[in-house]
Amino acid sequence: MPQIAKVIVDVPTMQTNRPYDYQVPDTLLDSIQPGMRVAVPFGKGDRLIQGFILSIQDQANFEGQLKPITAVIDLQPAVNSELLQLSSWLAERTYAFQITCLQTMLPSVMRAKYSKTAQLVDEIDPALQASLFNGNDELTFDQSLDPEKLKQLMQLQRQGKIEVVYHVDDRARVKQLTAIEPALSFEQLEEARTGLRKSAQKQSQLISYLQSLIDQPNPLLKDVLTKTTFTRENIKTGADKGWLRQVKVEAYRNPYPKTVTTTQKMALTDEQADAVEAVVAATEAQSDRVFLVEGITGSGKTEVYLQTIDAVLQQGKTALMLVPEIALTPQMVKRVKGRFGDQVAVLHSGLSEGEKYDEWRRIERKEASVVVGARSAVFAPLENIGVIIMDEEHEASYKQDESPRYHARDVAIWRSQYHHCPVILGSATPSLESRARAQKGVYQLLRLTQRINQQPLPAVELVDMREAMKQQASSNFSPALLDALKDRLQKGEQSVLLLNRRGFSSFIMCRDCGFVLQCPNCDISLTLHMDTHSMKCHYCGHEEAIPRTCPNCQSRQIRYFGTGTQKVEAELQELIPNARILRMDVDTTRKKGAHAKLLKRFGDHDADILLGTQMIAKGLDFPDVTLVGVINADTALGLPDFRASERTFQLLTQVSGRAGRADKTGAVIVQSFNPENYAIQFAKQHDYEGFYQYEMAVRHRGGYPPYYFTVQLTISHPEEALAAKKSFQIARQLRPVLSDQAIVLGPTPKSIARINNRYFYQIVIKYKQEPQLQAKLAEILETTQIDTRHGFKIGLDNEPLQFT
Ligand code: ADP
Ligand code: ZN
Ligand code: ZN
Repeated sequence: MPQIAKVIVDVPTMQTNRPYDYQVPDTLLDSIQPGMRVAVPFGKGDRLIQGFILSIQDQANFEGQLKPITAVIDLQPAVNSELLQLSSWLAERTYAFQITCLQTMLPSVMRAKYSKTAQLVDEIDPALQASLFNGNDELTFDQSLDPEKLKQLMQLQRQGKIEVVYHVDDRARVKQLTAIEPALSFEQLEEARTGLRKSAQKQSQLISYLQSLIDQPNPLLKDVLTKTTFTRENIKTGADKGWLRQVKVEAYRNPYPKTVTTTQKMALTDEQADAVEAVVAATEAQSDRVFLVEGITGSGKTEVYLQTIDAVLQQGKTALMLVPEIALTPQMVKRVKGRFGDQVAVLHSGLSEGEKYDEWRRIERKEASVVVGARSAVFAPLENIGVIIMDEEHEASYKQDESPRYHARDVAIWRSQYHHCPVILGSATPSLESRARAQKGVYQLLRLTQRINQQPLPAVELVDMREAMKQQASSNFSPALLDALKDRLQKGEQSVLLLNRRGFSSFIMCRDCGFVLQCPNCDISLTLHMDTHSMKCHYCGHEEAIPRTCPNCQSRQIRYFGTGTQKVEAELQELIPNARILRMDVDTTRKKGAHAKLLKRFGDHDADILLGTQMIAKGLDFPDVTLVGVINADTALGLPDFRASERTFQLLTQVSGRAGRADKTGAVIVQSFNPENYAIQFAKQHDYEGFYQYEMAVRHRGGYPPYYFTVQLTISHPEEALAAKKSFQIARQLRPVLSDQAIVLGPTPKSIARINNRYFYQIVIKYKQEPQLQAKLAEILETTQIDTRHGFKIGLDNEPLQFT
């Protein structure tokens, strides 16, 4: 029976966002499967393009002439049937093209045009090897391979006799550095010492130093030269005398060690045991219930995850654990690998493209049954999933800010329904959306209220910067914070300093009274626009002049707020000259592995103070950190975003949790120009529940999520007037399909109104139930697509996390 294939083609436009029918050539009849990628002729001139086969059907009720599929690209489906279904849902949910969703699910090497070979991994019939592989053990294949050979390859793939390898140039060459290594045993070194003259003190010290290195990792030569008193001459002498060797080491090693010490299950606390029991019961009942584990820092959430995973593995199922990229530290990976060993696959941005593909293939081949990874790991091709865990579920990085604009939480829940397995959302500070759902019983709330070590949460001291500024006008450091830093330095304890970069100089604040200019209509701070020299509201479009004096106290100290990490580092070094400071921000962590390396150096006590942006707030667990300082708690509060308070509360809570993790008590000092602000006050009290109640009331008054759903339209054009005109036209189109309950905000220009010479406008729709909205938005997308010829672009973001 002739067959047709429904193919999603790789032409990302609205018009082509549907399956096209192609004829399956006889040569491919029994080898082709849904989920495989194919090359097909498309459009004028029958250009060859790539596509995904969605389904294969009998041709019975089709009339007319179809074009045939030209070639098959994969030997086996690139996406399985679950992920095919997921891609349809995702496309609809995020207003993205299905082809974009499908591409998103695959490792990037598979998306790019790399050459690939089929390599033999097992013995095959010598005759076949001769005919198919020309007697070699690998074969480069592409679309031009003849169908008969392709069929043979597919068969071998199914039998596990070959492996497909993508050839990526590893441009990030491994850099070599010099390290030193003792060349003699402890006793031999001791013997060498006896032969020394009395005056050769330095050499004797070098011998002692080399003895201390035995069974230790080899230190880098440059570190030896900077951190010890030995000179290059001394090292050379040591080498000449045969006491030490200079060896080459890789500069960037994989931050995740291949071998980790195994850890055993811990005896659970009552709260932990209750949580594990509830989730495991759901896994046994094949229930797709969502659990929200609200547990204070140090309450042992990870152990709950690990023991749940363990139970699921014993049921013969697999487990998916998502963590924010930034929290995917070696420490976290060690904890999971320590428990489950080689069954664990790790997917994160620190891996090269080739390494990522390797991990992905291990999952696909069912060699890995536990996957730990950041956002895109939610598409890991695991089968028979028994539990999906999302740690730090409130993190904004779970939302992708380019198409498809999906939230990993939504995808996780979709997959849990497919697999009939529960989801655990974990956090010390759950998003308001999730906490509210737990309140309504949509999710089941499990609370961990006790810290494992019974240590109280660290005391948080608020420093009123308005007062501090009176004493020393231009410093970023209050006397209280400075004294505390010096005190820790003297005791040999470590400190972490957070510089909040969110909202960096985008709003203005009075340095005398803390006043922040607000929109008269919206209860949201106005954003400074340097291009127009004005203050604008991003919600309603209100605009006013930049004030010269504070409207509240008439001070002239009103100015935009913000300062860079580098500047703060310089100031701190000047204030405390003998402090060893490590700076961690986007500049110092750009290189692969740099983040992990900085953390390791801090862990090794290479520095007294770790100064950094948001990225230091998570995942660190350093026992000797007894002081956490927050230089500017306020900056995020000035953002024109109704989630500003929530983000501030989360950040302060998170960073406070870094102090006093082990047996030493920790202290937290928070500098603020608005110490009476409720987000800061609740964070000081470690009171998530209090914050939640208060913030819900604020959201209710303002008509924001979780009381409303939101969708954001972004319209852009190289000419501002046209972008504006189109935006108003779209707003007018929307109104008639919406009920009175829906609120349309804007159109307003975005905070960075011009990017790449395009002007951006946005419309935000707040709504509760609008049955016609989705169809209307899809229609608007489709009709504006035609306008791309005229330079218009339109983006849709369902439940946006970013409003600026
Ligand atoms: P959270 O993720 O909730 O902040 P962690 O999972 O990091 O907390 O746990 C804090 C510390 O307590 C870790 O060092 C962990 O090994 C330890 N821990 C967790 N559960 C137990 C337990 N049941 N018994 C003993 N120690 C535990
Ligand atoms: Zn003022
Ligand atoms: Zn406004």
